[in-house]
Amino acid sequence: MAQNLDALRLALQHSPDNAPLLLLFAEGCLEEGQVDEAMTSFQRVLNLDPGHLDARLGLARSALLQGKASEAAVRAEQILSDAPQHAAAYVLLARIHITEGDLPKAKAYYTKGLELNRSLADAGIEKDLKSVKAADLDGNKRTAMTSGGDFLERDDDADSDEDGRPRGGKAFDLGLADFEKPKLNFSNVGGMEAVKEQIRMKIIYPLQHADLFKAYDKKVGGGVLLYGPPGCGKTLISKATAGEIKANFIALGLHQILDMWIGNSEKNMHEVFELARQNAPSILFFDEVDALAADRRDLRQSAGRNLINAFLAEMDGAESDNDGVLVIGATNAPWHIDPAFRRPGRFDRTLFVPPPDEPGRASIIEVIAKGKPLAELDAKALAKKCANFSGADLKAVFDIATEEVLNEAMKSGKVIPLTTKDLIRSAAGHKPTTKAWFESAKNYAMYSNQSGLYDEVLQYLGLLKR
Ligand code: ATP
Repeated sequence: MAQNLDALRLALQHSPDNAPLLLLFAEGCLEEGQVDEAMTSFQRVLNLDPGHLDARLGLARSALLQGKASEAAVRAEQILSDAPQHAAAYVLLARIHITEGDLPKAKAYYTKGLELNRSLADAGIEKDLKSVKAADLDGNKRTAMTSGGDFLERDDDADSDEDGRPRGGKAFDLGLADFEKPKLNFSNVGGMEAVKEQIRMKIIYPLQHADLFKAYDKKVGGGVLLYGPPGCGKTLISKATAGEIKANFIALGLHQILDMWIGNSEKNMHEVFELARQNAPSILFFDEVDALAADRRDLRQSAGRNLINAFLAEMDGAESDNDGVLVIGATNAPWHIDPAFRRPGRFDRTLFVPPPDEPGRASIIEVIAKGKPLAELDAKALAKKCANFSGADLKAVFDIATEEVLNEAMKSGKVIPLTTKDLIRSAAGHKPTTKAWFESAKNYAMYSNQSGLYDEVLQYLGLLKR
Protein backbone atom coordinates (compact mmCIF):
# COMPACT_ATOMS: atom_id res chain seq x y z
CA MET A 1 0.00 0.00 0.00
CA ALA A 2 2.90 2.34 0.76
CA GLN A 3 3.91 2.12 -2.91
CA ASN A 4 0.33 2.79 -3.98
CA LEU A 5 0.31 5.73 -1.67
CA ASP A 6 3.40 7.18 -3.38
CA ALA A 7 1.75 6.66 -6.79
CA LEU A 8 -1.39 8.41 -5.56
CA ARG A 9 0.64 11.25 -4.08
CA LEU A 10 2.29 11.71 -7.48
CA ALA A 11 -1.05 11.60 -9.28
CA LEU A 12 -2.37 14.26 -6.92
CA GLN A 13 0.48 16.61 -7.83
CA HIS A 14 -0.94 16.55 -11.36
CA SER A 15 -4.62 16.74 -10.36
CA PRO A 16 -4.78 18.36 -6.92
CA ASP A 17 -8.52 19.00 -7.16
CA ASN A 18 -9.56 15.48 -8.12
CA ALA A 19 -11.96 14.55 -5.29
CA PRO A 20 -12.14 10.76 -5.96
CA LEU A 21 -8.32 10.65 -6.04
CA LEU A 22 -8.11 12.67 -2.82
CA LEU A 23 -10.50 10.25 -1.12
CA LEU A 24 -8.55 7.23 -2.34
CA PHE A 25 -5.36 8.77 -1.05
CA ALA A 26 -6.95 9.63 2.31
CA GLU A 27 -8.21 6.04 2.70
CA GLY A 28 -4.71 4.77 1.94
CA CYS A 29 -3.27 7.11 4.56
CA LEU A 30 -5.75 5.84 7.17
CA GLU A 31 -4.75 2.26 6.36
CA GLU A 32 -1.10 3.20 6.84
CA GLY A 33 -1.86 5.02 10.08
CA GLN A 34 -0.97 8.42 8.61
CA VAL A 35 -3.96 10.10 10.16
CA ASP A 36 -2.85 13.74 9.83
CA GLU A 37 -2.23 13.40 6.11
CA ALA A 38 -5.59 11.63 5.71
CA MET A 39 -7.33 14.52 7.48
CA THR A 40 -5.67 17.08 5.23
CA SER A 41 -6.95 15.18 2.20
CA PHE A 42 -10.49 14.79 3.54
CA GLN A 43 -10.46 18.51 4.34
CA ARG A 44 -9.38 19.33 0.79
CA VAL A 45 -12.36 17.37 -0.53
CA LEU A 46 -14.59 19.39 1.78
CA ASN A 47 -13.09 22.63 0.48
CA LEU A 48 -14.21 21.53 -2.98
CA ASP A 49 -17.56 20.14 -1.86
CA PRO A 50 -18.51 21.22 1.69
CA GLY A 51 -21.32 18.67 2.10
CA HIS A 52 -19.33 15.63 0.92
CA LEU A 53 -20.54 12.82 3.20
CA ASP A 54 -17.63 10.42 2.67
CA ALA A 55 -15.13 13.15 3.44
CA ARG A 56 -17.09 14.18 6.55
CA LEU A 57 -17.19 10.57 7.68
CA GLY A 58 -13.47 10.32 6.95
CA LEU A 59 -12.80 13.21 9.34
CA ALA A 60 -14.97 11.54 12.00
CA ARG A 61 -13.08 8.26 11.59
CA SER A 62 -9.77 10.10 11.75
CA ALA A 63 -10.83 11.82 14.99
CA LEU A 64 -11.63 8.45 16.54
CA LEU A 65 -8.26 7.09 15.47
CA GLN A 66 -6.64 10.04 17.23
CA GLY A 67 -8.50 9.14 20.41
CA LYS A 68 -10.91 12.08 20.14
CA ALA A 69 -14.11 10.08 20.66
CA SER A 70 -16.33 13.08 21.47
CA GLU A 71 -15.28 14.97 18.36
CA ALA A 72 -15.84 11.80 16.30
CA ALA A 73 -19.33 11.39 17.80
CA VAL A 74 -20.29 15.00 17.11
CA ARG A 75 -19.14 14.70 13.49
CA ALA A 76 -21.00 11.41 12.99
CA GLU A 77 -24.18 12.81 14.56
CA GLN A 78 -23.99 15.85 12.29
CA ILE A 79 -23.81 13.53 9.29
CA LEU A 80 -26.92 11.72 10.52
CA SER A 81 -28.83 14.92 11.06
CA ASP A 82 -28.24 15.73 7.36
CA ALA A 83 -28.46 12.15 6.07
CA PRO A 84 -30.51 10.02 8.51
CA GLN A 85 -30.05 6.86 6.41
CA HIS A 86 -26.24 6.99 6.40
CA ALA A 87 -25.42 3.41 7.42
CA ALA A 88 -21.68 3.89 7.81
CA ALA A 89 -22.24 6.78 10.27
CA TYR A 90 -24.30 4.45 12.47
CA VAL A 91 -21.58 1.82 12.36
CA LEU A 92 -18.99 4.44 13.28
CA LEU A 93 -21.15 5.55 16.22
CA ALA A 94 -21.26 1.91 17.30
CA ARG A 95 -17.47 1.83 17.27
CA ILE A 96 -17.30 5.11 19.22
CA HIS A 97 -19.65 3.80 21.90
CA ILE A 98 -17.66 0.59 22.20
CA THR A 99 -14.60 2.78 22.87
CA GLU A 100 -16.60 4.60 25.52
CA GLY A 101 -17.84 1.34 27.05
CA ASP A 102 -21.54 1.94 26.32
CA LEU A 103 -22.29 -1.42 24.72
CA PRO A 104 -26.12 -1.26 24.62
CA LYS A 105 -26.00 1.99 22.63
CA ALA A 106 -23.23 0.58 20.46
CA LYS A 107 -25.40 -2.45 19.82
CA ALA A 108 -28.42 -0.34 18.84
CA TYR A 109 -26.33 1.80 16.47
CA TYR A 110 -24.74 -1.27 14.92
CA THR A 111 -28.10 -2.96 14.40
CA LYS A 112 -29.47 0.16 12.74
CA GLY A 113 -26.41 0.48 10.50
CA LEU A 114 -26.72 -3.12 9.33
CA GLU A 115 -30.44 -2.76 8.78
CA LEU A 116 -29.59 -0.04 6.29
CA ASN A 117 -26.62 -1.81 4.78
CA ARG A 118 -25.84 -5.44 5.61
CA SER A 119 -22.51 -5.30 3.81
CA LEU A 120 -21.10 -3.14 6.63
CA ALA A 121 -21.04 -6.15 8.98
CA ASP A 122 -17.84 -6.01 11.00
CA ALA A 123 -16.44 -9.04 12.78
CA GLY A 124 -14.41 -6.85 15.19
CA ILE A 125 -17.48 -4.91 16.34
CA GLU A 126 -19.52 -8.10 16.66
CA LYS A 127 -16.87 -9.65 18.86
CA ASP A 128 -16.91 -6.59 21.12
CA LEU A 129 -20.70 -6.63 21.25
CA LYS A 130 -20.92 -10.28 22.22
CA SER A 131 -21.11 -9.31 25.85
CA VAL A 132 -24.32 -7.30 25.36
CA LYS A 133 -27.11 -9.43 26.67
CA ALA A 134 -30.71 -9.05 25.59
CA ALA A 135 -31.37 -7.99 29.17
CA ASP A 136 -29.36 -4.83 28.60
CA LEU A 137 -31.93 -3.81 26.02
CA ASP A 138 -34.83 -4.58 28.33
CA GLY A 139 -36.04 -3.21 31.60
CA ASN A 140 -38.58 -0.54 32.33
CA LYS A 141 -36.42 2.25 31.09
CA ARG A 142 -35.16 1.51 27.66
CA THR A 143 -33.38 3.21 24.92
CA ALA A 144 -35.01 3.98 21.60
CA MET A 145 -33.36 5.53 18.63
CA THR A 146 -34.96 8.24 16.53
CA SER A 147 -34.56 8.26 12.76
CA GLY A 148 -31.87 10.91 13.13
CA GLY A 149 -29.84 8.66 15.39
CA ASP A 150 -30.65 10.43 18.67
CA PHE A 151 -31.47 8.38 21.72
CA LEU A 152 -34.58 8.79 23.79
CA GLU A 153 -34.98 7.29 27.21
CA ARG A 154 -38.52 5.98 27.21
CA ASP A 155 -40.80 4.60 29.83
CA ASP A 156 -42.35 1.27 28.86
CA ASP A 157 -45.72 2.19 30.29
CA ALA A 158 -45.97 5.43 28.38
CA ASP A 159 -48.75 5.36 25.84
CA SER A 160 -47.07 7.16 23.04
CA ASP A 161 -48.87 6.50 19.84
CA GLU A 162 -50.04 10.05 19.28
CA ASP A 163 -47.27 10.65 16.79
CA GLY A 164 -48.28 7.56 14.84
CA ARG A 165 -45.76 5.40 16.61
CA PRO A 166 -47.05 1.91 17.40
CA ARG A 167 -48.03 1.01 20.95
CA GLY A 168 -45.87 -1.54 22.70
CA GLY A 169 -43.30 -1.06 20.00
CA LYS A 170 -40.37 -2.93 21.49
CA ALA A 171 -40.29 -5.22 18.46
CA PHE A 172 -40.46 -2.10 16.30
CA ASP A 173 -37.59 -0.44 18.18
CA LEU A 174 -35.46 -3.52 17.84
CA GLY A 175 -36.01 -3.58 14.10
CA LEU A 176 -37.81 -6.93 14.24
CA ALA A 177 -40.80 -5.86 12.21
CA ASP A 178 -41.99 -3.21 9.77
CA PHE A 179 -45.06 -1.35 10.89
CA GLU A 180 -47.36 0.62 8.64
CA LYS A 181 -50.92 1.68 8.00
CA PRO A 182 -51.19 0.74 4.32
CA LYS A 183 -52.66 3.31 1.97
CA LEU A 184 -53.23 0.78 -0.78
CA ASN A 185 -56.37 -1.35 -1.04
CA PHE A 186 -57.85 -3.89 -3.44
CA SER A 187 -58.06 -1.31 -6.22
CA ASN A 188 -54.25 -1.34 -6.32
CA VAL A 189 -54.19 -5.08 -6.88
CA GLY A 190 -54.90 -6.09 -10.45
CA GLY A 191 -57.04 -9.18 -11.13
CA MET A 192 -56.98 -11.84 -8.37
CA GLU A 193 -60.77 -11.64 -8.19
CA ALA A 194 -61.22 -15.16 -6.79
CA VAL A 195 -58.57 -14.56 -4.12
CA LYS A 196 -60.10 -11.19 -3.21
CA GLU A 197 -63.51 -12.82 -2.84
CA GLN A 198 -62.11 -15.53 -0.58
CA ILE A 199 -60.33 -12.90 1.50
CA ARG A 200 -63.59 -10.95 1.84
CA MET A 201 -65.37 -14.08 3.05
CA LYS A 202 -62.65 -15.44 5.28
CA ILE A 203 -61.06 -12.27 6.61
CA ILE A 204 -62.83 -9.01 5.93
CA TYR A 205 -66.46 -9.78 6.75
CA PRO A 206 -65.60 -11.47 10.05
CA LEU A 207 -63.46 -8.50 11.09
CA GLN A 208 -66.12 -6.02 9.99
CA HIS A 209 -68.75 -7.90 11.95
CA ALA A 210 -66.66 -8.54 15.02
CA ASP A 211 -69.61 -7.70 17.32
CA LEU A 212 -71.74 -10.38 15.70
CA PHE A 213 -68.93 -12.86 16.16
CA LYS A 214 -68.59 -11.83 19.80
CA ALA A 215 -72.32 -12.35 20.33
CA TYR A 216 -71.80 -15.97 19.28
CA ASP A 217 -68.66 -16.17 21.43
CA LYS A 218 -66.49 -16.66 18.39
CA LYS A 219 -63.06 -15.07 18.16
CA VAL A 220 -62.06 -12.91 15.22
CA GLY A 221 -58.55 -13.43 13.97
CA GLY A 222 -56.51 -16.56 13.59
CA GLY A 223 -54.33 -17.52 10.70
CA VAL A 224 -54.48 -17.78 6.93
CA LEU A 225 -51.80 -19.38 4.80
CA LEU A 226 -51.30 -18.01 1.30
CA TYR A 227 -49.32 -20.20 -1.03
CA GLY A 228 -48.41 -20.18 -4.68
CA PRO A 229 -45.64 -19.41 -7.14
CA PRO A 230 -43.34 -16.46 -6.42
CA GLY A 231 -44.26 -12.96 -7.46
CA CYS A 232 -47.99 -13.57 -7.80
CA GLY A 233 -49.02 -10.97 -5.24
CA LYS A 234 -49.14 -12.74 -1.86
CA THR A 235 -47.43 -9.85 -0.11
CA LEU A 236 -49.29 -7.22 -2.10
CA ILE A 237 -52.75 -8.68 -1.41
CA SER A 238 -51.95 -9.08 2.31
CA LYS A 239 -50.99 -5.43 2.56
CA ALA A 240 -54.03 -4.38 0.53
CA THR A 241 -56.24 -6.45 2.84
CA ALA A 242 -54.95 -4.42 5.78
CA GLY A 243 -55.69 -1.26 3.77
CA GLU A 244 -59.23 -2.45 3.00
CA ILE A 245 -60.09 -2.92 6.66
CA LYS A 246 -57.95 0.01 7.90
CA ALA A 247 -55.90 -2.35 10.01
CA ASN A 248 -52.23 -1.97 10.87
CA PHE A 249 -49.85 -4.09 8.83
CA ILE A 250 -46.91 -5.59 10.61
CA ALA A 251 -44.45 -7.45 8.43
CA LEU A 252 -42.08 -9.65 10.25
CA GLY A 253 -38.50 -10.10 9.21
CA LEU A 254 -37.88 -13.70 10.16
CA HIS A 255 -34.15 -13.41 9.71
CA GLN A 256 -34.18 -10.56 12.21
CA ILE A 257 -36.10 -12.64 14.74
CA LEU A 258 -33.43 -15.28 14.34
CA ASP A 259 -30.62 -12.76 14.53
CA MET A 260 -28.47 -13.86 17.42
CA TRP A 261 -27.29 -10.29 17.92
CA ILE A 262 -30.76 -9.09 18.75
CA GLY A 263 -31.08 -11.70 21.45
CA ASN A 264 -33.41 -14.47 22.31
CA SER A 265 -35.50 -15.55 19.29
CA GLU A 266 -38.46 -16.82 21.32
CA LYS A 267 -38.67 -13.54 23.19
CA ASN A 268 -38.41 -11.61 19.94
CA MET A 269 -41.33 -13.62 18.59
CA HIS A 270 -43.36 -12.67 21.67
CA GLU A 271 -42.53 -8.97 21.18
CA VAL A 272 -43.76 -9.09 17.60
CA PHE A 273 -47.08 -10.67 18.63
CA GLU A 274 -47.39 -8.08 21.43
CA LEU A 275 -46.88 -5.31 18.87
CA ALA A 276 -49.74 -6.81 16.81
CA ARG A 277 -52.02 -7.28 19.83
CA GLN A 278 -51.53 -3.77 21.15
CA ASN A 279 -52.24 -2.31 17.73
CA ALA A 280 -55.26 -4.46 16.83
CA PRO A 281 -56.99 -4.65 14.44
CA SER A 282 -53.81 -5.70 12.80
CA ILE A 283 -52.47 -8.08 10.23
CA LEU A 284 -49.27 -9.78 11.18
CA PHE A 285 -47.57 -10.91 8.01
CA PHE A 286 -44.94 -13.65 7.93
CA ASP A 287 -43.28 -13.98 4.56
CA GLU A 288 -41.54 -17.27 3.76
CA VAL A 289 -43.16 -18.86 6.76
CA ASP A 290 -41.73 -22.21 5.62
CA ALA A 291 -38.33 -20.92 6.78
CA LEU A 292 -39.72 -21.03 10.30
CA ALA A 293 -41.58 -24.28 9.98
CA ALA A 294 -38.95 -26.22 8.09
CA ASP A 295 -35.82 -27.78 9.38
CA ARG A 296 -33.25 -25.44 7.92
CA ARG A 297 -29.53 -25.30 8.49
CA ASP A 298 -29.61 -21.65 9.50
CA LEU A 299 -31.97 -22.50 12.34
CA ARG A 300 -29.80 -23.89 15.10
CA GLN A 301 -31.52 -27.22 15.73
CA SER A 302 -32.65 -26.75 19.33
CA ALA A 303 -33.54 -23.07 18.88
CA GLY A 304 -35.57 -24.11 15.82
CA ARG A 305 -37.88 -26.37 17.77
CA ASN A 306 -38.20 -23.89 20.62
CA LEU A 307 -38.98 -21.10 18.24
CA ILE A 308 -41.64 -23.13 16.45
CA ASN A 309 -43.22 -23.93 19.80
CA ALA A 310 -43.08 -20.27 20.80
CA PHE A 311 -44.71 -19.27 17.53
CA LEU A 312 -47.48 -21.84 17.88
CA ALA A 313 -48.12 -20.85 21.50
CA GLU A 314 -48.38 -17.19 20.46
CA MET A 315 -50.77 -18.13 17.66
CA ASP A 316 -52.90 -20.20 20.01
CA GLY A 317 -53.14 -17.13 22.20
CA ALA A 318 -52.59 -19.37 25.20
CA GLU A 319 -51.00 -16.59 27.24
CA SER A 320 -52.54 -13.52 25.65
CA ASP A 321 -55.65 -12.49 23.78
CA ASN A 322 -55.24 -12.50 20.01
CA ASP A 323 -58.62 -10.94 19.32
CA GLY A 324 -58.41 -8.72 16.24
CA VAL A 325 -55.00 -10.05 15.20
CA LEU A 326 -54.95 -11.85 11.91
CA VAL A 327 -51.81 -13.77 11.08
CA ILE A 328 -51.10 -14.21 7.40
CA GLY A 329 -48.30 -16.55 6.40
CA ALA A 330 -47.01 -16.62 2.85
CA THR A 331 -45.00 -19.39 1.30
CA ASN A 332 -43.85 -20.79 -2.00
CA ALA A 333 -43.23 -24.17 -0.38
CA PRO A 334 -46.31 -25.17 1.64
CA TRP A 335 -45.19 -28.81 1.54
CA HIS A 336 -42.33 -27.95 3.88
CA ILE A 337 -44.68 -26.71 6.55
CA ASP A 338 -45.10 -28.80 9.65
CA PRO A 339 -48.73 -30.11 9.81
CA ALA A 340 -48.90 -28.75 13.39
CA PHE A 341 -49.15 -25.30 11.81
CA ARG A 342 -52.49 -26.18 10.21
CA ARG A 343 -54.36 -27.17 13.35
CA PRO A 344 -57.54 -25.23 14.23
CA GLY A 345 -56.80 -21.71 15.42
CA ARG A 346 -53.48 -21.68 13.62
CA PHE A 347 -53.19 -21.53 9.82
CA ASP A 348 -56.52 -23.26 9.50
CA ARG A 349 -57.50 -21.47 6.30
CA THR A 350 -55.39 -21.97 3.19
CA LEU A 351 -55.60 -19.92 0.02
CA PHE A 352 -53.93 -20.75 -3.27
CA VAL A 353 -52.69 -17.60 -5.03
CA PRO A 354 -52.31 -18.67 -8.65
CA PRO A 355 -50.67 -16.79 -11.50
CA PRO A 356 -53.12 -14.30 -13.01
CA ASP A 357 -55.33 -15.42 -15.89
CA GLU A 358 -55.52 -13.32 -19.05
CA PRO A 359 -58.08 -10.74 -17.85
CA GLY A 360 -56.20 -10.67 -14.52
CA ARG A 361 -52.96 -9.94 -16.34
CA ALA A 362 -54.65 -7.13 -18.28
CA SER A 363 -55.82 -5.57 -14.98
CA ILE A 364 -52.35 -5.92 -13.44
CA ILE A 365 -50.87 -4.30 -16.55
CA GLU A 366 -53.30 -1.37 -16.12
CA VAL A 367 -52.29 -1.03 -12.45
CA ILE A 368 -48.56 -1.15 -13.21
CA ALA A 369 -48.96 1.29 -16.12
CA LYS A 370 -50.44 4.03 -13.90
CA GLY A 371 -48.11 7.03 -13.78
CA LYS A 372 -45.78 5.70 -16.51
CA PRO A 373 -45.23 7.75 -19.68
CA LEU A 374 -47.19 5.79 -22.28
CA ALA A 375 -48.07 6.78 -25.82
CA GLU A 376 -50.90 4.21 -25.82
CA LEU A 377 -51.53 0.89 -24.14
CA ASP A 378 -53.40 -2.15 -25.37
CA ALA A 379 -53.39 -4.07 -22.09
CA LYS A 380 -55.39 -6.95 -23.56
CA ALA A 381 -52.96 -7.47 -26.44
CA LEU A 382 -50.01 -7.43 -24.05
CA ALA A 383 -51.76 -9.78 -21.59
CA LYS A 384 -52.29 -12.25 -24.44
CA LYS A 385 -48.55 -12.40 -25.04
CA CYS A 386 -47.75 -13.02 -21.38
CA ALA A 387 -49.10 -16.51 -20.65
CA ASN A 388 -47.85 -17.87 -17.30
CA PHE A 389 -46.40 -14.50 -16.28
CA SER A 390 -46.66 -13.57 -12.60
CA GLY A 391 -47.41 -10.02 -11.45
CA ALA A 392 -43.70 -9.61 -10.73
CA ASP A 393 -42.90 -10.86 -14.28
CA LEU A 394 -45.25 -8.23 -15.69
CA LYS A 395 -43.55 -5.58 -13.62
CA ALA A 396 -40.22 -6.81 -15.02
CA VAL A 397 -41.62 -6.41 -18.57
CA PHE A 398 -42.27 -2.72 -17.82
CA ASP A 399 -38.86 -2.31 -16.16
CA ILE A 400 -36.97 -3.80 -19.10
CA ALA A 401 -38.94 -1.78 -21.67
CA THR A 402 -38.42 1.39 -19.60
CA GLU A 403 -34.67 0.83 -19.46
CA GLU A 404 -34.50 0.48 -23.21
CA VAL A 405 -36.55 3.61 -23.84
CA LEU A 406 -34.53 5.49 -21.21
CA ASN A 407 -31.35 4.78 -23.15
CA GLU A 408 -32.93 6.42 -26.18
CA ALA A 409 -34.32 9.26 -24.07
CA MET A 410 -30.89 10.00 -22.61
CA LYS A 411 -29.42 10.25 -26.11
CA SER A 412 -32.11 12.66 -27.30
CA GLY A 413 -32.67 14.47 -23.97
CA LYS A 414 -36.46 14.07 -24.38
CA VAL A 415 -39.03 11.83 -22.66
CA ILE A 416 -39.94 9.07 -25.12
CA PRO A 417 -43.28 7.45 -24.16
CA LEU A 418 -43.56 3.66 -24.03
CA THR A 419 -45.72 1.86 -26.57
CA THR A 420 -47.50 -1.50 -26.51
CA LYS A 421 -45.00 -2.64 -29.14
CA ASP A 422 -42.07 -1.85 -26.79
CA LEU A 423 -43.77 -3.83 -24.03
CA ILE A 424 -44.57 -6.82 -26.25
CA ARG A 425 -40.94 -6.88 -27.40
CA SER A 426 -39.77 -6.81 -23.81
CA ALA A 427 -42.21 -9.63 -22.87
CA ALA A 428 -40.87 -11.81 -25.69
CA GLY A 429 -37.43 -11.66 -24.08
CA HIS A 430 -38.64 -12.54 -20.59
CA LYS A 431 -39.12 -16.09 -19.31
CA PRO A 432 -42.09 -16.51 -16.94
CA THR A 433 -40.92 -17.55 -13.49
CA THR A 434 -44.00 -19.54 -12.50
CA LYS A 435 -43.34 -22.62 -14.67
CA ALA A 436 -40.55 -24.03 -12.52
CA TRP A 437 -42.76 -23.69 -9.45
CA PHE A 438 -45.55 -25.75 -11.02
CA GLU A 439 -43.09 -28.48 -11.96
CA SER A 440 -42.30 -29.19 -8.31
CA ALA A 441 -45.80 -28.33 -7.06
CA LYS A 442 -47.28 -30.92 -9.39
CA ASN A 443 -45.34 -33.74 -7.71
CA TYR A 444 -46.40 -32.72 -4.22
CA ALA A 445 -49.99 -32.19 -5.34
CA MET A 446 -50.13 -35.62 -6.94
CA TYR A 447 -48.27 -37.65 -4.34
CA SER A 448 -48.72 -35.95 -0.99
CA ASN A 449 -52.06 -34.24 -1.27
CA GLN A 450 -53.23 -34.85 2.31
CA SER A 451 -56.95 -34.08 2.70
CA GLY A 452 -57.04 -32.46 -0.72
CA LEU A 453 -54.75 -29.64 0.41
CA TYR A 454 -53.45 -29.03 -3.08
CA ASP A 455 -56.64 -29.68 -5.04
CA GLU A 456 -56.59 -26.11 -6.31
CA VAL A 457 -53.13 -26.67 -7.78
CA LEU A 458 -54.36 -29.82 -9.54
CA GLN A 459 -57.42 -27.95 -10.79
CA TYR A 460 -55.22 -25.15 -12.09
CA LEU A 461 -53.11 -27.72 -13.96
CA GLY A 462 -56.26 -29.34 -15.37
CA LEU A 463 -55.53 -32.60 -13.53
CA LEU A 464 -58.64 -32.45 -11.38
CA LYS A 465 -62.16 -31.40 -12.30
CA ARG A 466 -63.64 -28.51 -10.35
P1 ATP B 1 -42.78 -13.94 -3.24
O1 ATP B 1 -43.38 -15.30 -3.13
O2 ATP B 1 -41.58 -13.90 -4.16
O3 ATP B 1 -42.57 -13.25 -1.93
P2 ATP B 1 -45.29 -12.61 -3.68
O4 ATP B 1 -46.26 -13.64 -4.17
O5 ATP B 1 -45.39 -12.18 -2.28
O6 ATP B 1 -43.83 -13.05 -4.07
P3 ATP B 1 -45.48 -9.86 -4.31
O7 ATP B 1 -44.22 -9.50 -3.60
O8 ATP B 1 -46.75 -9.47 -3.69
O9 ATP B 1 -45.45 -11.39 -4.66
O10 ATP B 1 -45.44 -9.26 -5.79
C1 ATP B 1 -44.24 -8.83 -6.38
C2 ATP B 1 -44.51 -7.57 -7.18
O11 ATP B 1 -45.25 -7.91 -8.36
C3 ATP B 1 -45.38 -6.55 -6.45
O12 ATP B 1 -44.64 -5.65 -5.68
C4 ATP B 1 -46.08 -5.86 -7.59
O13 ATP B 1 -45.25 -4.87 -8.12
C5 ATP B 1 -46.22 -6.94 -8.65
N1 ATP B 1 -47.54 -7.59 -8.57
C6 ATP B 1 -47.78 -8.90 -8.26
N2 ATP B 1 -49.10 -9.17 -8.34
C7 ATP B 1 -49.72 -8.02 -8.67
C8 ATP B 1 -51.07 -7.64 -8.87
N3 ATP B 1 -52.06 -8.54 -8.77
N4 ATP B 1 -51.33 -6.35 -9.19
C9 ATP B 1 -50.34 -5.44 -9.33
N5 ATP B 1 -49.03 -5.74 -9.16
C10 ATP B 1 -48.71 -7.00 -8.84
